[in-house]
Amino acid sequence: MPLRPETSSDLLIDGKLTPGSGGVFDVVNPATEEVIGQAADGTSEDMDAAIAAARTAFDTTDWSRDHAFRARCLRQLRDALLAHGDEFRELTIAEVGCPAFLTHGPQFDGPVTDLGYFADLAENYEWTRDLGTAKPMGLKNHRELRSEAVGVVGAITPWNFPHQINFAKIGPALAAGCTVVLKPAPDTPWCAALVGKIVAEETDFPPGVLNIVTSTDHQLGAQLSTDPRVDLVSFTGSTATGKKVMAAAAESLKKVFLELGGKSAFLVLDDADIGSACAMAAFNVVTHAGQGCAITTRLVVPRTKLDEAITATRDAMAGLPAGDPTDGGTICGPVISARQRQRIESYIELATSEGGTIEIGGGRPTDKPAGFFVEPTLISGLDNSARVAQEEIFGPVLVIIPHDGDDDAIRIANDSPYGLSGMVYGTDEERIDKVVNGVRTGTMGVNGGIWYAADVPFGGFKQSGIGREMGVAGFEEYLETKAVARPA
Ligand code: NAD
Repeated sequence: MPLRPETSSDLLIDGKLTPGSGGVFDVVNPATEEVIGQAADGTSEDMDAAIAAARTAFDTTDWSRDHAFRARCLRQLRDALLAHGDEFRELTIAEVGCPAFLTHGPQFDGPVTDLGYFADLAENYEWTRDLGTAKPMGLKNHRELRSEAVGVVGAITPWNFPHQINFAKIGPALAAGCTVVLKPAPDTPWCAALVGKIVAEETDFPPGVLNIVTSTDHQLGAQLSTDPRVDLVSFTGSTATGKKVMAAAAESLKKVFLELGGKSAFLVLDDADIGSACAMAAFNVVTHAGQGCAITTRLVVPRTKLDEAITATRDAMAGLPAGDPTDGGTICGPVISARQRQRIESYIELATSEGGTIEIGGGRPTDKPAGFFVEPTLISGLDNSARVAQEEIFGPVLVIIPHDGDDDAIRIANDSPYGLSGMVYGTDEERIDKVVNGVRTGTMGVNGGIWYAADVPFGGFKQSGIGREMGVAGFEEYLETKAVARPA
C-alpha cells in the first residue's frame, strides 16, 4: 500500500485514522517551494480526544505490565517501517529537505532500527530489584524496588530531524510501558502521520497506546503541557519554548524532559592538524544546512594560527555548496522554510553590523531560483561576546574565534548559556582529556569521534535541557520507582 497520501494524511486517535477537525494544511518541499500534499489540521478538541484515549489505554489495559507484548509491537513497527524504507526516505527528503545521505542514518534508518534496542530493553530490563533485608527502627524488613511506567507521555517535537526525535521519544516511552500523544512540528507533519498510518494498518498496538496529532496550532503543545491527564511532557525544540513548557507543566506538577538548543564549540588545540580539523568543522556546520542542535557552530582556533584556519575552513566550505537534497552527494540542502531563512539572513546582517567579516557565503546561492537555500557562511573578526557567537542561528553559519591556549579555549567553550555538545582536536591525550573534562556539555567528540548511537544518552547541561534521551538513561526517564517492604 503506498505511503504517500493521495489527498491528506490523517490523525491517529484511539487506534483510528481520522481527519483533523480543523481541515487540512499544506506540506511544502523546502528545496522547490512546491506544495507536495496536505496534512490533517488537528484542533484542541482532537488533542483532547487523543489525551483521553492515551489515558484510558494506560489506566484500563495491560500495556504497561506486558513487557513481551510491547517488545513485539515495537519490533513489528520497526520491520513495517523498514519494509516501506524507500518510500519513507523519498518523502522525508521531500518534506524535510534533508540530504539523501542522511536518510540512511539519523534521518530514517538509524532511529527506526533503534526501535529494536528499546524493544530489547522492554524485555530485558531489571523491572524488579531485590534490596535484601534491613532493620529500620529495629524491625527486620525485606525490601524490593519496582520500576513502573510514568503514565501518559506528551511528546512535542521539532522539524529538523523528525524521525530521529519522534522515535527517540516514542521508542523508550512505549518500551517503558507508557502511552503517548505525539505532536510533531507543523513543518514536518508527514514524517509523524505516516508512522501513524503504519501503526493503525500494520501493527498490533492497542487503540490509544500511540496517538498522533498534526496541527498548525502550536497551542496544542501548550495543551499537552498543561493537561493534568498527561504525566510527563517530553519536549525537543528551542530553549525559549522549553521554558514555556516547563512553566506550563508546573501547574499540574508533571515531569518535564527537555532537549533544547545549543551553540557548541569546536576546539582546535595548537598541536592539532589545522587543515583536517577545519575541514571537519566546515563539514559539520553545513550538514543538513546547520539544522542540528548538536552541530558545532563556533570554531575556536589558536590565535597564532587564525589566518591558516580561516583559509582552510573557507576552502573546505567552498567544496560543500548548498545543493539538491535528492542528490546523493549533497551535504548542505535547503533550510526548512522562508521564515527560517529570513532568521538566518538577519543574523548574517547582524554579524556585519557588529564588525564581523564574511569570509565566504553570506547570501543565497545564485544557481537556485527556488528553494530556501542559504550559502555556507564563515564569519571572522568577532569575539565570543558577539550575538552570533552567543545565540543559536540554526543555519550553515560558522563563527571563527581565536583562543590563547587550552584554558582560554575551555573558557570560551563554556562562555555560553548552552551546554549541549562539542569537539576537540589535538594530539596530546593529556591535554585533550583536560579539555573534555573542562567543557560543560552533554556530549564531546575527540578528533572527529561520533557519539550518536542508540545506547548513548544524549542531552544538555545548562540551558540546553533537562534529562537524557536514548540509552538506558533515556529509557529510565519514562519510569517511576516504587519501593516495597514487608516484614522478614
Ligand atoms: P520550537 O521550539 O519553535 O518548536 C518545537 C515544537 O514545540 C513544535 O512542535 C511546536 O509546535 C511546539 N510548540 C511551539 N510553541 C509551544 C508552546 N508554547 N508549548 C508547547 N509546545 C510548543 O522549535 P523549532 O523551531 O521547531 O526547532 C528548532 C529548535 O529545536 C532549535 O532551537 C534546536 O536547537 C532545537 N532542537 C533541540 C534538539 C535537542 O535534542 N536538544 C534537537 C533538535 C532541535
